[in-house]
Amino acid sequence: MVAVTYVRDIGASRAFYELLGFREHSTGTADTSAWLALHRDGHYVLLASTRPPLDIPRLPLLFYFFFDDLDAVVGALGAAHVEVTHMGHPPQALGGEVKVLDPDGNTVLLGQRERSASQPPVADDEASAHFSLLKEAAALVEARGGTTVMCQISDIHGAPCGKRAEVKLADAAGDTVWACVAHADEILVTVPGAFIASQEERGIGWFLSRRRS
Ligand SMILES: [Zn+2]
Repeated sequence: MVAVTYVRDIGASRAFYELLGFREHSTGTADTSAWLALHRDGHYVLLASTRPPLDIPRLPLLFYFFFDDLDAVVGALGAAHVEVTHMGHPPQALGGEVKVLDPDGNTVLLGQRERSASQPPVADDEASAHFSLLKEAAALVEARGGTTVMCQISDIHGAPCGKRAEVKLADAAGDTVWACVAHADEILVTVPGAFIASQEERGIGWFLSRRRS
């Protein structure tokens, strides 16, 4: 399988994927397009670009790559001043998981499947900071009488989640969604800028109303 992604700037994307250990396999250019095939451990990523560039929305998750030594990759990213967000140790990445943005702003997750002997043990309560925040938010909603809303997230085939919603998420554009904790976790991981919408605190409306009075 070759994974293909369109990028704005092949040179910038190449530098990013080289930090993840990818190396050039082949490359080519035409009048209005260019492509670069990269490989790592038998996996291929094809970067393609067109002139004028295609108008492609940012994807909430572009790639998930596994590494045997995540710390080494994180070190290389840090040395190149790429911002790395630690996501904790989810079940599929007991050796750790981090989030980075590719040069086009897409989310790329990096994980290490198993803990290595040199890694210190993970505290039971670590679980990943945002997940415990979600549980706290869900407990607050529950304490205020809970909700009768169902989780508004569907699976990729359009089938509704079916669980009761537990927390409300929002983004800076003002979109909101009620979700179960598991789906809320997925949104927080994959949607840049999504946050937990607090039901408890007085909001901007309250602030503005005080100004007017
Ligand atoms: Zn759900």
